[in-house]
Amino acid sequence: SKKQIQYCKEIIKKNKIEFIDLKANDLTGRLHHITLPYYENILDRLVTEGVGFDGSSYGFKKVENSDMILVPDLDTARIDPFRDAPTLSFYSHIVLTDEKRTPFSQDGRYLAKKAESLLKEITGADKSWWGPEFEFYIFSNVEYDTRTASSYYRVEHAEEFYKKAYHAANPFDEYDDFRDEACKLLKAQGINVKYHHHEVGERGQQEIETYFADLLTTADNIITTKYILFNFAKQKGLYITFMPKPMYQQAGNGMHLHFYITKNGKNLFYKKGEYGNFSELGRYFIGGMLKHAPALSAFTNPSTNSYKRLVPGFEAPVALTYGMGNRAGAIRIPKYVSNPQETRFEYRPPDATANPYLCLVAMLLAGIDGVVNKIDPVKEGFGPYDKNFLEGDDVHKIHFLPRNLAEALDALEIDNDFLRRGNIFTDELLQQWIKTKNEEIHSIGTMPHPFEYKMYFNL
Ligand code: GLN
Ligand code: MG
Ligand code: MG
Ligand code: MG
Repeated sequence: SKKQIQYCKEIIKKNKIEFIDLKANDLTGRLHHITLPYYENILDRLVTEGVGFDGSSYGFKKVENSDMILVPDLDTARIDPFRDAPTLSFYSHIVLTDEKRTPFSQDGRYLAKKAESLLKEITGADKSWWGPEFEFYIFSNVEYDTRTASSYYRVEHAEEFYKKAYHAANPFDEYDDFRDEACKLLKAQGINVKYHHHEVGERGQQEIETYFADLLTTADNIITTKYILFNFAKQKGLYITFMPKPMYQQAGNGMHLHFYITKNGKNLFYKKGEYGNFSELGRYFIGGMLKHAPALSAFTNPSTNSYKRLVPGFEAPVALTYGMGNRAGAIRIPKYVSNPQETRFEYRPPDATANPYLCLVAMLLAGIDGVVNKIDPVKEGFGPYDKNFLEGDDVHKIHFLPRNLAEALDALEIDNDFLRRGNIFTDELLQQWIKTKNEEIHSIGTMPHPFEYKMYFNL
């Protein structure tokens, strides 16, 4: 709109902007960009004409031809702090080349908007709120730190010390200043940090938690947060990774998502006196996500490496359960929430190798399906569990997350109607996702692993 363009022009003037940067994600959630030198009225042109690009290089499934168009989303204007010349950056809408500029049905940002309106239509909620937690490792030297087979011998008794580094203080918390600086960079991008700390992993695992925002903003923020952290680390001569399990027998990196929905600002999950002070509607969301969790994993945990994290003993989720006390379950209701407005649950499986748009949309659709089909997590046998269900008889009653990406894709092939509701995930998108991820499975599956040399070289 005129108003948005005016707002951008003020930023441009004030910051002496020389370049416009259009950013967009490919199918897997990897960030790309294209830069245009600034001239008067470039924005007016870009919102109508956009910039053409080759969509096939973004991993999308072909629709007629591969020519597509990036159009800046003016709501996302930010100064890119990692460009030498003053640069105004935008996330993009991906649209087709037809006269109507039809939104592209594999563009995650488009799906995000559709999912939010479906939520409203079905539950009456006008907004969903998401609070992501970022876990990542910082390494000073990748060759030295990301050991593979050799770490097997070094960490035989991981249990004994793996909790040591949680909230570690100085001088062991080497990177608190890094995290401080990262917070300031994030704030300049409109992302507010709740807190940051050293995580459990004793060789430099970090955590940054950010505040709640709506679905599309949160997915954009996830991309931005990773962009800022990767680039800031590079500036400092450090290496960071969000890989779910970078080191054998060390805590993995999750991207837990706290979640609730509101109507006119009122939290719809709150009901005093029920388990976790959770309403029936809130319970259906839990039921839907747990029931569809195996298929959902194909989007929340879409890497072969994702499943190396989802094992017992490292506070990563393994079971399709919910409760207030146990971190091995996929859903945890935080006990420390005292403000009814913040009644929420935490969905723990996701990791940062997910395409955040598809990940959040798929989760929302699973929850919506729980509401439509009144999926009660108690009746389904998902809990609530507050004790250690991995020991004792309960272990025979509960179901588990997929053990690997292939199992997740199998689950997705069988269970995907909930994703098609409102035509949000199309056939093309689902097929392309499964095809792309099967190729990753094939590459890794046919590649000799260093540890196989230890096991089999002399056998
Ligand atoms: N790192 C754990 C995971 O993989 C989470 C640890 C925690 O935040 N308590 O999910
Ligand atoms: Mg946390
Ligand atoms: Mg954590
Ligand atoms: Mg958490």
